[in-house]
This record gives sequence, C-alpha cells and structure tokens, in this order.
Amino acid sequence: MTSLPIPMAIELRGLTFRYPTGRVALDDVRCAIAPGERVAVVGPSGAGKSTLLMHLNGLLPMPSVATDDTVQVFIQSLGVTKGRLRDVRRQIGFLFQDPDDQLFCPTVREDVAFGPLNLGLDQAEVLVRVDQSLIAVGLPEHGPRNPAQLSTGERKRVCLAGVLACDPVMLVLDEPTSNLDPRARRQLLEILRRFPGTQIIATHDLDFALELCPRVLVLDGGKLQADGPVEQVLANPNLMERHGLEVPWRLRAV
Ligand code: ADP
Repeated sequence: MTSLPIPMAIELRGLTFRYPTGRVALDDVRCAIAPGERVAVVGPSGAGKSTLLMHLNGLLPMPSVATDDTVQVFIQSLGVTKGRLRDVRRQIGFLFQDPDDQLFCPTVREDVAFGPLNLGLDQAEVLVRVDQSLIAVGLPEHGPRNPAQLSTGERKRVCLAGVLACDPVMLVLDEPTSNLDPRARRQLLEILRRFPGTQIIATHDLDFALELCPRVLVLDGGKLQADGPVEQVLANPNLMERHGLEVPWRLRAV
C-alpha cells in the first residue's frame, strides 16, 4: 500500500528572482518545509534571505496565473499567484525586520487590531484576540500607548502581537532578534517556542537559530548552499567561513 504524501507547508520549486536593476537575488532555490517545522535561514548580508521571505507572502512581483512553469512558491500546496494572495496571506504571519514598516496607528491596541479587523472578524472577537496577543508578548498594559513612544524591542513585540492576533498557521520572521536586549530576546524565544505552527526565520543571530530551529538553510549569493540539521551545519567551520559566517561558541571544538 502506498501512503499519501504529506502536503508541505512551504515548497520552493527552483525559486529564481531578479530585481528590476538586474540583480539576481535568488537563483534556483529548492526546498520543502513540512508543517510544524522550525527552519532558520542564515547567510551573509545580501545573501537573499529577505527576498526569499518576501516571496512567501507574495510581496514581490509574481505570476498572475498559475501554471507549472511559472509558479515557484507553494504554501500549503497552493501556488502563490496574484489571484491567491488573500488566501496565502491569511495563513502567514509575516514579521518585517523593521517594526516601523508594520506600525502606523496612534495606539498599540489599534495596531494589533488592524490585521484581524482586516480579516473581517467581528469587533468582540477582535478585542479578545488583541488582549490575548498582548498578554502573549508580555505587553498586557501597553494597549493605550503610542507605538512611536515604545522602545524598539517593545515595538517588535507589538508587531508580533499583531501577527499572532491573526491566528496564522505559519510565521515568517525577518531578523526578529535585531535590536532586542537579552531579556526581550529570551521572551521572544519563549513566545516562538510556544507557537505550534511552521516557522521560517531569517537571522544573523546563529545562537538564536541554534536554540529555536532544528533545521537551517544557508543562503549565499542567492543560492541554497546547505540545508540540514542546525547543529551539524553550523558546526562546519569550512562551510561557515566560505559563506561569511562563524561557528557559534557552543558548537566549537575545545
Ligand atoms: P539579505 O536579506 O540576505 O541581506 P536581500 O534579500 O535583502 O539579502 O538582498 C539580496 C540581494 O538583492 C542583494 O544583492 C541586494 O543588494 C539586492 N536587493 C535587495 N533589495 C533590492 C531592491 N529593492 N532592488 C535591487 N536590488 C535589491
């Protein structure tokens, strides 16, 4: 008896992308991520990490119709095309690297409510979700405050609350630990460990990748250079050096 294949949470089938300037940011990237996997994407600056993440949420130009030749990104077996953006984005909680790209309301409460209201949820349900999400990120008292007057770490957590309030099945996070102090970083780690869905996280923080993600993708020059168990890949000094990275202290031979 043959068993049915598990539908992948994310599938990249030869993802290639060139910016209008001619710069090739991604070159034939192929990988499949199963539901519930936590995967870090690491590599030097300019490797293509943000470009890859943006493709998952349809933030860059994409085909308007789906054919096997044109679609390179699949979310829950659904080819990402212009016509399916709403369905795709419903599933994904996308955290931008810079909180200022995500926060634009006069209060934290309104910012966190923006996503779920956009999904068409009723007011009462949104209020519950906003409260729960602010508790989850450790900011239960911050609802009435102005996001512009919070620290960067707090603003990042408000963004994450907004993402969680939409109840996504997967999280796509771009440099979630940048500008966080150790306590905020630790709190973020705990929040993400509690989230049961698929997570894909671009990060320069290799210790964070090591603590959170069993699997890592190494990207450099737009190409996938390695894909494997995090402790094995990040402990490889030649690979790390070749791609402008350093073996984390915890994995160094003494
Ligand atoms: P990373 O997130 O790994 O630092 P990016 O995905 O931001 O890398 O960038 C990948 C490559 O694409 C880099 O060479 C970068 O300079 C280029 N790039 C990024 N954004 C743009 C853009 N809007 N226009 C042209 N080139 C870009």
